[in-house]
Amino acid sequence: MRIVRESMPDERVAFGGGKVSSGCVEPGSCLGCRLCVNICPETALVFLEPDTMKVHAEKCIFCEICAEVCPMKILSIKGDEKMLEWKIFVPERRHKMKFFGNLEAEVISKGICSHCTACASICPVNGITAGDKPISFPEYIKYCVDCGACIRVCPRWDYKPKSGIGNYIEAFAGRSKRFSGQDGAMVTEVIATAFEIGAINAAVLVSRDEDWNTKVVTVTSVEQLKNEKLRGSKYSFADVMPAVKDAVLRYNSIAFVGTPCMITALRKMQENFKKFERVKLAIGIFCTENFYYHDLSKFLLEKKKVDIRNALKTNISKGKFIVNLKSGEVVSFSVKELDEIVPSGCKVCQDFSAVDSDISFGSSGSPDGFSTVIVRSEFAKKITDTIKERGSAELGQVNIEAVKKSCEYKVKIHPYSTK
Ligand SMILES: Cc1cc2nc3c(=O)[nH]c(=O)nc-3n(C[C@H](O)[C@H](O)[C@H](O)COP(=O)(O)OP(=O)(O)OC[C@H]3O[C@@H](n4cnc5c(N)ncnc54)[C@H](O)[C@@H]3O)c2cc1C
Repeated sequence: MRIVRESMPDERVAFGGGKVSSGCVEPGSCLGCRLCVNICPETALVFLEPDTMKVHAEKCIFCEICAEVCPMKILSIKGDEKMLEWKIFVPERRHKMKFFGNLEAEVISKGICSHCTACASICPVNGITAGDKPISFPEYIKYCVDCGACIRVCPRWDYKPKSGIGNYIEAFAGRSKRFSGQDGAMVTEVIATAFEIGAINAAVLVSRDEDWNTKVVTVTSVEQLKNEKLRGSKYSFADVMPAVKDAVLRYNSIAFVGTPCMITALRKMQENFKKFERVKLAIGIFCTENFYYHDLSKFLLEKKKVDIRNALKTNISKGKFIVNLKSGEVVSFSVKELDEIVPSGCKVCQDFSAVDSDISFGSSGSPDGFSTVIVRSEFAKKITDTIKERGSAELGQVNIEAVKKSCEYKVKIHPYSTK
């Protein structure tokens, strides 16, 4: 089928062909999925084995179908960068299977998948599923386009655990004067301030429904942060990274809140696909373990006679899992009791403090009602400096030794050998 546009752009011509040379490929973010090659009705886009993409500009009929199918939205008939040929990176294959089969064999089947959802977010055919179930790609043999992007972003491929408190510029305890949150609501305060000073124009957060199922939400204003469900910790997996990818396609300065595995995944995404540099503020939360929602709610109901739907707040503090119920009742028990439902991928994680983040937060190291704030990048420091100047948070000393102990504890309870 030949697709012809009713009106051709006179000034800009696709792929540098025709009258005016005007480039159409944003460099550095091609997944190598070749969806464009497969759909181009004029074979203007071709893939040359083993790793080269080439455009025959003279063949382009401006139908823009390539731009439509491109999962990273890097193709366009308008643009300033002329690029008619570019390399794609083809990762190493450990098994003679499609790349998702490799990911399954090396990460998922070995029980080390962190459920960070980076693979689900990058998959060009949206075939990788996450949610409240282990990561999977039903019928990958049929549908995987074998680009290898999932492997390139997976923090558990060639897994070398990160640990410790990491590099930081400063650490303090804080309590927002305008928001209430899980601890001192400093996560929310930082996001609000970042919006106010124009440092970000979108933030990907984890909200919840009435049943405490996680719900990922992208907010674009401080006003939206008034929704209390956007604040507070939900101790179950959330599909954060697919929302981060959507945000990256729409906004240019993004913050997101994630567990340490998600933050490490983000760094891999940024290393491999330039477009993710639009994430300017990777906010890490301290994390010992996370849970599948179905496991946690079942445990609470069967073992503790607590219906999670009646919870007002859930918290892990000083080795206890605490549920504050709407009735005013408080149910508290040792987190060790949750051992049987800790996902295997969490059991090999040693990163407590989110060492790869721009800024990280937790309760460890601070008095009750305060958040520990570990500032790691200059970008994040501009925001915390503004909070200090404005006096919009009560500030205090952090017990850094206590945070280090939490880091060490996580390594101790989650041994992992790379041999
Ligand atoms: C699964 C999990 C385990 C944790 N374990 C520890 C721990 O062992 N020790 C410790 O000191 N602190 C832990 N924390 C961090 C702690 O609970 C608080 O998130 C942190 O102190 C910040 O509090 P705050 O009042 O500043 O945040 P708030 O201002 O209340 O904001 C909380 C933010 O967390 C985000 N969020 C909530 N749930 C999730 C989720 N499931 N995934 C990704 N983002 C989420 C929300 O988007 C929100 O922006 C954990 C948090 C989670 C989600």
